[in-house]
Amino acid sequence: MIIVMKQGAARKESRAVIARIKELGYTPHPIYGKERTVIGAVGDERGKIVLQTIESLPGVERVVPILKPYKLASREVKPDRTVVRITPGVTVGGTRLLVIAGPCSVESEQQMIATALAVKQAGAHMLRGGAWKPRTSPYAFQGLELKGLMMLRKAGDRAGMPVITEVMNPEDAETIAEYSDVLQVGARNVQNFALLKRIGKSKRPILLKRGMMTTINEFLMSAEYCLAAGSRQVILCERGIRTFEDATRNTLDLSAIPVLRERTHLPVVVDPSHATGVAAYVPSMSYAAVAAGADGLMIEVHPAPEKALSDGPQSLTFEKFADLMTKLRPFVQAAGRAL
Ligand code: PEP
Ligand code: MN
Repeated sequence: MIIVMKQGAARKESRAVIARIKELGYTPHPIYGKERTVIGAVGDERGKIVLQTIESLPGVERVVPILKPYKLASREVKPDRTVVRITPGVTVGGTRLLVIAGPCSVESEQQMIATALAVKQAGAHMLRGGAWKPRTSPYAFQGLELKGLMMLRKAGDRAGMPVITEVMNPEDAETIAEYSDVLQVGARNVQNFALLKRIGKSKRPILLKRGMMTTINEFLMSAEYCLAAGSRQVILCERGIRTFEDATRNTLDLSAIPVLRERTHLPVVVDPSHATGVAAYVPSMSYAAVAAGADGLMIEVHPAPEKALSDGPQSLTFEKFADLMTKLRPFVQAAGRAL
């Protein structure tokens, strides 16, 4: 249910509503908007009708059911777009486009520092690099784990950029949150509910990748797990879905961008690298994503893609990434954004 407070309702009145929601056995999620406060009350769907009694409390305008199965992620609860603050100077969801770049996997300190400096110079805002890697084959490179996390952090600090890396296991969440500014959940773990609940408790923002077989509705339900666990900083990432088409690694669902922007207040980032699997297709899909309203891009960049330990064929060289950033500018401007 959504408890919509009257415009100008006193803080004291909101506090009384919050207390009443708790008494009734539901979890309050207040959202203090520009014009008014709304308080989401989430919990067992079956008995929610008792929440209707809150309508008689002072300061309450109305109590309305949330129609969508995802509650806190929906624009019914929060019409204003969420701007996720990664560091004081790096945000996503506002007018500035967020560009995340870096290799698929952290391979060495030298590789990370060279990439960090090159992508920063080209205009990227955040450094990526996988330390724990979800690989289809157990015989493929599995990532440098903790050592890789430290290399990523060091490279980010050297270039003055926040960093993002994937968390595969709930037990690693705390350590990773200590060193990584953003926690990534990979496509394969989008419905790992234990992981979602665990990282939802973290103070760090979360970047949640759409699974290759999850519908938009299921994707938003996964985001809801993180929000219900307490997080207010979830970034969604479209990275291609599996279809009959095999000319590309996945099929980039660009229509997910306007659909998500309509249904949720959460920022939407696009990963054209995993979506296409081919470096040559990455620039055009980046421009298209920005034109379609994406709040950010996540692009794989490697100093020597032919030598990469994972995802080399889809990784851009430093030169190609710099060229993409230059050609991206008019699209960013046309979309009413800044880089
Ligand atoms: C990645 O970003 O390195 C990754 C493994 O992507 P995805 O989870 O989208 O396959
Ligand atoms: Mn990859």
